Amino acid sequence: MSEKIKMNVPIVEMDGDEMTRVIWAWVKEILIEPFVELKTEYYDLGLGERERTKDGVTVEAAEAIKKHGVGVKCATITPNDERVKEYGLTDMYKSPNGTIRAILDGTVFRAPILAKGIVPYIPNWKKPITIARHAYGDIYRNVECRAEAGAKVELVVTASDGSCERMLVHSFGGDAGGGVGGTVDVGAEGAVGGDVLGGAGGGIAQGVHNTDASIASFARACMNYALDTKQELWFATKDTISKTYDRRFRDIFQGIFEDEYKDRFKDAGVSYFYTLIDDVVARVVRSDGGFIWACKNYDGDVMSDMVASAFGSLAMMTSVLVSPDGFYEYEAAHGTVQRHYYKHVAGEATSTNSVATVFAWTGALKKRAELDGLPKLAGFGERLEQAVLETIGDGVMTGDLVELSVLENKRKVGTEEFLREVADRV
Ligand code: NAP
Ligand code: MG
Repeated sequence: MSEKIKMNVPIVEMDGDEMTRVIWAWVKEILIEPFVELKTEYYDLGLGERERTKDGVTVEAAEAIKKHGVGVKCATITPNDERVKEYGLTDMYKSPNGTIRAILDGTVFRAPILAKGIVPYIPNWKKPITIARHAYGDIYRNVECRAEAGAKVELVVTASDGSCERMLVHSFGGDAGGGVGGTVDVGAEGAVGGDVLGGAGGGIAQGVHNTDASIASFARACMNYALDTKQELWFATKDTISKTYDRRFRDIFQGIFEDEYKDRFKDAGVSYFYTLIDDVVARVVRSDGGFIWACKNYDGDVMSDMVASAFGSLAMMTSVLVSPDGFYEYEAAHGTVQRHYYKHVAGEATSTNSVATVFAWTGALKKRAELDGLPKLAGFGERLEQAVLETIGDGVMTGDLVELSVLENKRKVGTEEFLREVADRV
């Protein structure tokens, strides 16, 4: 074998948990280290080390991404009650992804990996659809309440000079569904109200917010990514109904596009397109893919699961966090594949899909190559991705894909065997 490919600046490597931790070590050993003199700064975000450092290691890893610019992360457990018991934790640590996102700020882009024989449930989707999810605010930072019958819910805005503006959200009447407030009620109000569910005339209310700065950084991240990947950018809200809130998203996107990106988009031959959320959903289904769909927080949460399953499998979905300061963090979109891990620990053979984890690594290697001017490293990243797709195209795949593939000659292989088949093709 010829000399290994050299790197200058390390990638921030964040190890994780369960089956993906097993895959992580194999991907490095079987697919990367034989070809690249891999340079990483290693952080162990496995639950054991997070417990030992009281989650300090997660913060250190995020700070390291700020220093070096590029990170790659293995899936990690977000603890719940069961995990606290299982791992004897002293605290229910927050999601590492949430912590890292909060430190780096930014937008999460999720794109499916298309392989021969794996046909999307929507057959006209020929090219990937990348979902860009705004990861701040809206209902994820809401304040909500139950309002009993007779209550009046108001929105109060106190300005910095102390002056107040009050807006009526709703007056909850004394009888089921009986609103006397000045709001327009949409849909079948009262249909689920009534005594059984908590008192005639009562209801619910919530307050949500977003910030101009966060929306602007979301817009810039999407526009940069569109230029980076030479894809059209689509964005949609419900600004016909939400004339101030959603309208603000639309206006900020439009303003930033006109001021900073219009000419660069023209030069790159890509376009920016705004429409209503319901219209965009219809267009996405009819499209052949190949664009970035920028989504408000909730839309992105819901639509990324829809797009991932329609393309075939969550195990074929990559994810990259792009910060407004130009930092990149790559990962697979799926979790730690717990059920497979318990089989693995019990000594049983597994057939877990490693494709998204491999693509997280190639994404990081290619970005490092681009930033540091290393064409050989970029070439290797491309070659490794092709080898993965060739393997699946040759009919060699893990169990989850066997069920989806339309190829006639297909063979189910184990987790490690798949990686060796890919290595043979590199
Ligand atoms: P998951 O690990 O994504 O797995 C859900 C199911 O999807 C699996 O049981 C498996 O189905 C299938 N699957 C997912 N990835 C697969 C792969 N690579 N190959 C084959 N099948 C795959 O999600 P989860 O079970 O909800 O969560 C497990 C743990 O992961 C949790 O502790 C959660 O906190 C964590 N998590 C981490 C991240 C992250 O770090 N980014 C994201 C999500 C979840 P079958 O079992 O039917 O084969
Ligand atoms: Mg979701």
